Amino acid sequence: MAKSQYEYVRQFEQNDSLLPATWLVVRIDGQGFTKFTTRHGFTKPNDIRALHLMNRSAKEVMESMTEIVISYGQSDEYSFVFSKDAKAYDRRASKLITLLVSRFTSAYVYYWSEFFPDTKLQFPPAFDSRVVQYPSDRIMRDYLCWRQVDCHINNMYNTCFWTLVNKGGMSNKDAEKRLSGTLSSDKNELLFGEFGINYNDEKEIFKKGSVLVRENTLVDVTTPEGKCAKRTKSTVVILHCDIIRDQFWNDRPELTR
Ligand code: ATP
Ligand code: ATP
Ligand code: MG
Ligand code: MG
Ligand code: MG
Ligand code: MG
Repeated sequence: MAKSQYEYVRQFEQNDSLLPATWLVVRIDGQGFTKFTTRHGFTKPNDIRALHLMNRSAKEVMESMTEIVISYGQSDEYSFVFSKDAKAYDRRASKLITLLVSRFTSAYVYYWSEFFPDTKLQFPPAFDSRVVQYPSDRIMRDYLCWRQVDCHINNMYNTCFWTLVNKGGMSNKDAEKRLSGTLSSDKNELLFGEFGINYNDEKEIFKKGSVLVRENTLVDVTTPEGKCAKRTKSTVVILHCDIIRDQFWNDRPELTR
């Protein structure tokens, strides 16, 4: 096709290709979810339906972008780790983050009614998105540790806060005051001593967040000749496990291969 006189404007587009041989992590986060969760009557501190909806949307993303090797989600955020040698969209940052976050957001809306059959979506939610490059396996793992520790700290605080408010009859302000300056051990003590709650008994999905990885499973298929056969199929599985200690990584050498 002949070039028009306007084609030159393309020269103003900037190359935003990310480094080769580097882990790429895209993190998305719900915009203004403090308000979004209130407006949609989320159970505090953890609405399990919402966490399952986040996981479903993340699974959709992993199925559409096959170079993502592991994802980690908690609260209104999700991190997607692309393999070091990922080639998608020539590693162009804007393509990666926009396609990923728009897929995630549309999946969140698409599956909303499956997880919230009785709650009408009040307004269209949005997520922000960024990409960060991590040059070594250790730093990529530390990134995930950072998010899982964040999940733990926030969940412990929120569990205490909402227990004080809902079971202890405190105002939000008083609960906040009561918790200010407390250590993790104080919070365990408070939950157990005053409310008989053992923090360890809380659901793993709340304490650890969600980890999505691919696993090969055997599935039944019908061959073109009409016979039954077994094939290996890669499926995305959802775990709620520790990813800080070595165990998880030793069990899955393919992740950091
Ligand atoms: P920003 O736009 O800066 O991200 P935000 O209001 O989304 O603002 P965050 O720091 O991302 O702030 O916090 C997420 C909010 O959503 C918190 O208030 C958290 O309690 C709430 N939230 C997220 N997931 C759930 C859930 N499953 N159940 C209940 N509340 C949730
Ligand atoms: P890419 O992912 O590279 O953008 P694409 O298939 O979306 O691939 P585009 O160059 O963006 O390719 O072209 C958009 C396509 O969608 C064209 O085939 C165009 O005819 C079609 N399309 C877009 N809007 C309409 C419309 N309103 N009615 C009919 N066809 C449309
Ligand atoms: Mg934020
Ligand atoms: Mg947010
Ligand atoms: Mg957040
Ligand atoms: Mg197009």
